[in-house]
Amino acid sequence: MVLIDGKKTSQDIKNEIAFRVAEIKAKEGKIPHLAAVLVGSDGASHTYVNAKVKACEEVGFKSTLVRLDADVSEEQLLKAVEDINNDADIDGLIVQLPLPKHISVDKVTNKIKPEKDVDGFTPANVGRMTLNWPAYVAATPYGIIELLKRYEIETAGKHCVVIGRSHIVGSPMSILMGRNGYPGNATVTLTHSKTQNLPEICRSADILIVAIGKPEFVTGDMVKPGAVVIDVGIHRVEDASKKSGFRLIGDVKFQEVAEKASAITPVPGGVGPMTIAALLYNTLQSAEKKVFG
Ligand code: NAP
Repeated sequence: MVLIDGKKTSQDIKNEIAFRVAEIKAKEGKIPHLAAVLVGSDGASHTYVNAKVKACEEVGFKSTLVRLDADVSEEQLLKAVEDINNDADIDGLIVQLPLPKHISVDKVTNKIKPEKDVDGFTPANVGRMTLNWPAYVAATPYGIIELLKRYEIETAGKHCVVIGRSHIVGSPMSILMGRNGYPGNATVTLTHSKTQNLPEICRSADILIVAIGKPEFVTGDMVKPGAVVIDVGIHRVEDASKKSGFRLIGDVKFQEVAEKASAITPVPGGVGPMTIAALLYNTLQSAEKKVFG
């Protein structure tokens, strides 16, 4: 069984990015610059944004964090996005989700200039990805694609089952696995809460990508021997034996699934670190004007 090591792979990617940052700096005197907008004081959002800012420092990017109060109006948030859109020094812009209920995520997403949309959430980038054009691909699916590539996982002609159809993970993942290229050319089944016979469908998967958001949902009896299993889920569970008082688990029951899989991502240390590396890579691409030209 191969343990797909997202921690090590993400570090490799960060080293590659840092090298290219030094080159851009020497050639153009410019440093890639990522701006993050954080609304409110949600603990998990703070943790994610801080990790992104720290990762920027690691690779030599400039970063700007715009913090807004939870009661900021939609208009004020749209204005903050507009200001970043118009700031020529900023290459990438992310708005950390979730947003407070009084703000339309769709409106805010649609306000982001596609050329700076390094989260790959705007309709322009989703459309470009679907057409197999150069695009900013959402960071989590992009990170998974990079893992499959770097671990040379065969995907052509395989049956890939994706559990979950969110806009940020499951849906783009299904499109990427089905497109004509590598990784891709898989026969894809996209499943969701209305899917019937899910365990049976999972058992027919050569590649199983799990983004359901339910702790340890996928058990050993749902997995075909030799399958490749990618676990996107992240959940905190109390654990008195840990100094922090908690540990992280995924959407997959790791021990029993690992016994059957030919390759599997752990939680932590699998998809999570790859998501940040992919975001940095998209920002680098923007600084190098590689996607929109
Ligand atoms: P989400 O938006 O909550 O979507 C969950 C999906 O699972 C939905 O499409 C839902 O179907 C489907 N689902 C729910 N119950 C189901 C069932 N019984 N059978 C089949 N499908 C079912 O989740 P998400 O944002 O994609 O995130 C999924 C997990 O990944 C979460 O644990 C999240 O924390 C984690 N995550 C990790 C990273 C990372 O960097 N590692 C990034 C993003 C997310 P419906 O559409 O029918 O409701």
